[in-house]
Amino acid sequence: MQLQLATWPEVEAYLATSRTVIIPIGSTEQHGPNGMIGTDALTADAIARGVGEATGALVAPVIAVGMAQHHMAFAGSMTLRPTTLIALVRDCVVSLARHGFERFFFINGHGGNIATVTAAFSEIYAEASLGAAGNRAGLKCVLRNWWENSQVRSLSKELFANAEGGHATPSEVSLTWFLYPAHTKPMALDPPIAPYGSFADAHDYRRAFPDGRIGSNPGLSSVEAGKRIYAAAVDALTADYKSFAA
Ligand SMILES: [Zn+2]
Repeated sequence: MQLQLATWPEVEAYLATSRTVIIPIGSTEQHGPNGMIGTDALTADAIARGVGEATGALVAPVIAVGMAQHHMAFAGSMTLRPTTLIALVRDCVVSLARHGFERFFFINGHGGNIATVTAAFSEIYAEASLGAAGNRAGLKCVLRNWWENSQVRSLSKELFANAEGGHATPSEVSLTWFLYPAHTKPMALDPPIAPYGSFADAHDYRRAFPDGRIGSNPGLSSVEAGKRIYAAAVDALTADYKSFAA
């Protein structure tokens, strides 16, 4: 059940059976020369809805802008400062906790969100631990990166081997092509596999990775691969959700 399509009596009835909610979180940032700017939000949202359909879980609206300061030298990218994202995640969780939700299963599409969202969870717990929050004790939050499980990892390796890389990966680009086949952009990339390395701010990133990719060849992307990756991610996270909600 999607929160945005539900009525308040339906949410109240859901709360009588479950205190767990799925919150997809992504990013709005460049994904190389042929990947959609919304890749991380589109993938997290679609996988979250898939897990919701498989489990009957309530799925909150996607948090579509994340911590992507390092992508800001590429047109169209948007970012929240880490402190803003911490406040946003905290307010979303506390809003839902106000109604009785206690367990928050975040499905994440963007590696750059991990540190900040984890810090937001610590803020939420600190309020309960310090005794300042009154009734917010007992909340539990987890962050699951949709690509970090054995099913998706082994499928990505089988499909793309060392061309998978770290950003604008053929797995995530394929997944968006499966979801939005009218927006595929087959393209031969030069060099086929982008450089790997570290980065600091947005200018440093663009100097090191001129077309936006890190270590990947999204020229290998396909709708068919995306269909398989979507199914693997939904399967893995469905099992994970069930044990978290139990
Ligand atoms: Zn991405």
